[in-house]
Amino acid sequence: MSMDISTDKCTIGIVGAGTMGSGIALAALYKGYSVILQDSFPGALDKGRDYIEKFLAKKDMGANAGLATYAKDLEALAGANILIEAVIEVLAVKQELFRRLDEICPAPAILASNTSTLAVTAIASAVREPARVAGMHFFNPAPILPLVEVVQGAESAPETVAALVALAEALGKTPVVTGDTPGFIVNRVARPYYGEALRLMGEGVATVEEIDLLAERGAGFRMGPFRLMDLIGIDINATAMQSMYEQTHGEPRYRPHFIQMQKLQAGTLGRKTGRGFYSYEDGELEEENSRLEVTLDGAVLVSEGTWAPGLAGSLQSAGMEAGKVTPVGMAPQAVFVAAGREELLPEETNVYLAGTDKSLPVFVPAVDMTVAELATLTDEPERLVGYDSLFIAGGAAVTLTASPTLTDEHRARADEMVRALGKRPVWVKDSPGLVLPRIVFQLVNEAAFAHLEGVGDADTIDLAMRLGVNYPKGPLAWGREFGYSKVLAALDHLYNEYREDRYRACVLLRRWARLEP
Ligand code: NAD
Repeated sequence: MSMDISTDKCTIGIVGAGTMGSGIALAALYKGYSVILQDSFPGALDKGRDYIEKFLAKKDMGANAGLATYAKDLEALAGANILIEAVIEVLAVKQELFRRLDEICPAPAILASNTSTLAVTAIASAVREPARVAGMHFFNPAPILPLVEVVQGAESAPETVAALVALAEALGKTPVVTGDTPGFIVNRVARPYYGEALRLMGEGVATVEEIDLLAERGAGFRMGPFRLMDLIGIDINATAMQSMYEQTHGEPRYRPHFIQMQKLQAGTLGRKTGRGFYSYEDGELEEENSRLEVTLDGAVLVSEGTWAPGLAGSLQSAGMEAGKVTPVGMAPQAVFVAAGREELLPEETNVYLAGTDKSLPVFVPAVDMTVAELATLTDEPERLVGYDSLFIAGGAAVTLTASPTLTDEHRARADEMVRALGKRPVWVKDSPGLVLPRIVFQLVNEAAFAHLEGVGDADTIDLAMRLGVNYPKGPLAWGREFGYSKVLAALDHLYNEYREDRYRACVLLRRWARLEP
């Protein structure tokens, strides 16, 4: 029989009055639920009560404060219908707690865990009827963020999951049901956002500031990976990485990076300690304002090819003529190659370049080839600038990389060209997949693996990533937009260059790429 979750029939018990426990309690009180908040540490309980009462008063909902009771002893939870556990992220502690809750709150009460990374099935094993246990994973700040992952453990009954879905909806949230695999949807699919950024930094491809700038202005993420790690706490983020790595018995995509571990050793954990990847001691970060107001008249040559979607339109909106040949009387300003590896025939490219003014920089897509490799295919490597062609049209920042023999003149001209498009040029070291394809396509790959492994269907995964971590697009829809064959080509390039399993493409991506028209 399904549980009645109406506010007069359902009391919510919450164990742990820390950040998440008090946040979940507040979300329930907003909607008029009776709440019992328990924490065995009196300091934590007082802090939770202060936080809850302050926010209820702020919202003119002071009357709802009367719906809350605060308790030091677990026994006080005896009358609750749905229990949500939010104590520290330690399996043994959670199991011991569930063992006690099993006695204090017998069936048909539902027992849920807010764990971020532990296996719900392992927590449920401490309960005699694991069918009444499932995960209910809120995001911080719980009263505000709309997503709730309802995690179906191996033994969770469908009615348990249904009741938690209904409760999430009653709290005004958007629930998504996920499988009980490490990191569920959001914490799992988001791993490469941090992992690839750390590797890019570790390999000296780009700086922390450059990577953040590209993620935010080039791809539209709300916060760059380093700014976000500083906000979350580098320790919390590293622990999640470590936990996923261990639970998957060493999946290389989740391998923690030594830079994270070093920050832990140094105690520079992000905003909360005043210093992480950035320093917060002097207040907010200052925005660097670079001058972009360059105007160039004339024409730009753009080759055939499908690897620079929207480029011609961007050039035209910046007031330039774009085409395969220069209109009579117009001075060309640059040459853009729009073809990727498969489309790029060296002879044709050379013939094409041979007919152009030698002083012009030649932009070549460096997404599925490094610019160093491209330089070996042309007779004029000193003109070559690699660019992140797939992200050029949409973003306000563009990644550029120099061929080994690029001249200063060609470099300066290329820089000016990008500024004339109203975009910030960001020069990085030549490296497979540059910055954004490496980060974003690994997100697409991770989402494909999650889908393949039954963690959620494509729409669910995309929704969870948009609501849980504010991604500008769901990774699978994003991959479809770029074209799965392009994502695959870039991942295969990364795989071939690094020879690491970390970059092996998911079999689903290969399948989807084949099905593309
Ligand atoms: P927190 O440290 O703010 O709160 C944890 C609470 O657990 C504290 O109030 C503490 O008094 C209590 N506690 C500590 N040791 C205990 C013990 N041995 N037995 C019982 N209670 C104990 O932590 P938090 O950030 O609220 O995280 C709680 C849970 O929520 C964790 O499982 C975490 O993974 C998960 N979570 C956290 C976030 C987040 O962003 N903070 C987001 C989603 C899920």
